[in-house]
Amino acid sequence: MFESLSDRLGKIFDGLRGRGALNEADVDAALREIRRALIEADVSLEVVRAFVEQVRDRAIGVEVTRSVTPGQQVVKIVHDELVGVLGEAATPIDLNAAAPVTILMVGLQGSGKTTTTAKIAKRLKDKQKKKVLLASLDTRRPAAMEQLKVLGEQVGVDTLPIVAGEDPVTIARRAAREARLGGFDVLILDTAGRTHIDEELMAETAEIKSVSSPHEVLLVVDALTGQDAVNLARSFDARVDITGIVMTRVDGDGRGGAALSMRAATGKPIKLIGVGEKMDALEDFHPSRIADRILGMGDIVSLVEKAAEHVSAEDAQKMAKKLKKGSFDLDDLRGQLQQMKKMGGMGGLMSMMPGVGQMKKAMAGANIDEKVFDRQIAIIGSMTKKERADPDLLNASRRKRIAAGAGVEVSEINKLIKQHRQMADMMKKVAKGGMGSLAGMFGG
Ligand code: GDP
Repeated sequence: MFESLSDRLGKIFDGLRGRGALNEADVDAALREIRRALIEADVSLEVVRAFVEQVRDRAIGVEVTRSVTPGQQVVKIVHDELVGVLGEAATPIDLNAAAPVTILMVGLQGSGKTTTTAKIAKRLKDKQKKKVLLASLDTRRPAAMEQLKVLGEQVGVDTLPIVAGEDPVTIARRAAREARLGGFDVLILDTAGRTHIDEELMAETAEIKSVSSPHEVLLVVDALTGQDAVNLARSFDARVDITGIVMTRVDGDGRGGAALSMRAATGKPIKLIGVGEKMDALEDFHPSRIADRILGMGDIVSLVEKAAEHVSAEDAQKMAKKLKKGSFDLDDLRGQLQQMKKMGGMGGLMSMMPGVGQMKKAMAGANIDEKVFDRQIAIIGSMTKKERADPDLLNASRRKRIAAGAGVEVSEINKLIKQHRQMADMMKKVAKGGMGSLAGMFGG
């Protein structure tokens, strides 16, 4: 989810990185890109506008800590603002009321309301040991009532028996009575939807709300809802005062702007996300996690701080040039190992680098830890200059000689050479522009 937005911001900040100072024009350039990225991520225009203003207000004139560049400061501000807009903490469904606690599910037809109703019931039953009753108020679509019944059976939760000809308000009353008499902890009411917002739907939903006094009113919204998300959330909130939002089909959405839009427009928390059609495909919504994913760039500020401490500008230039050419020999590897050692190991370095999920996976196989650095540096030190420049020369007898020289097993030499080949391949990809991040980071 949110991949395209995160990629986009990643590129923007690559541009910002590596500059000594950031003036107002730089901030504006970055904001233009952030604006475009957010719009492409389907965040509603008005939310984008407000968000960008907020970032600008905080970015310009901000006290820049000496150890970071203003560019990194902007990254941090954007991250903090995203978390702020998405909400500070995960908000679970609130069941703090006299039983039976009623949850009213509202939203458009096809948003995933019925599915989500059953998912929530399953979760409350399995995780919180609650006795749950489900009732469908969708009298216009008998199939919808039947669907809820089937899903209820599937997750092992009771549904209110269907009585033909009843209106939604009557069903809501009957459900409340049944939940009380049956000793249920929670009653979840699945309401009718429409393909779009209309007054009749709103009036009906409001009436159901007034007779059922729900403790939670959850608006179910498809994550693919683009610019309409704000209107949708606002309309429902105005009429039935929602207590939270459930965003569905997060599994299928690469943009995810709806989350930002709805949260910003209503101030109501996104409580849960649907991540698939299966009954257990329901997860808590974690704002900071989502903001991290939106940015997808890890802890840039501390990375650049460390890099600035340990990598001289000259080294960085050299490395950037090499990377651009796509060449990476064993001398380069030794240089990298020495730098990484200073910077707290591969794990630390990788986890801080932007957009390196892919790379990290490749590196995991290499299994580098800090003690290994020293041995590897020693191994490379036992090679001749020619061998370092051209690893293909390293035949069996040369490997044996080097192993003896460095005091290690031949298998370690083999491992190092394999690892170097993997890194060289990766560097080639980076140089081709797949992820300009590395070159940019080392002084591009
Ligand atoms: P309703 O009309 O709002 O009650 O929508 P439904 O609950 O009938 O859902 C419509 C379709 O969306 C069904 O095929 C569901 O399986 C599917 N669906 C619901 N939630 C999710 C989700 O989180 N991810 C995916 N991929 N599909 C979902």
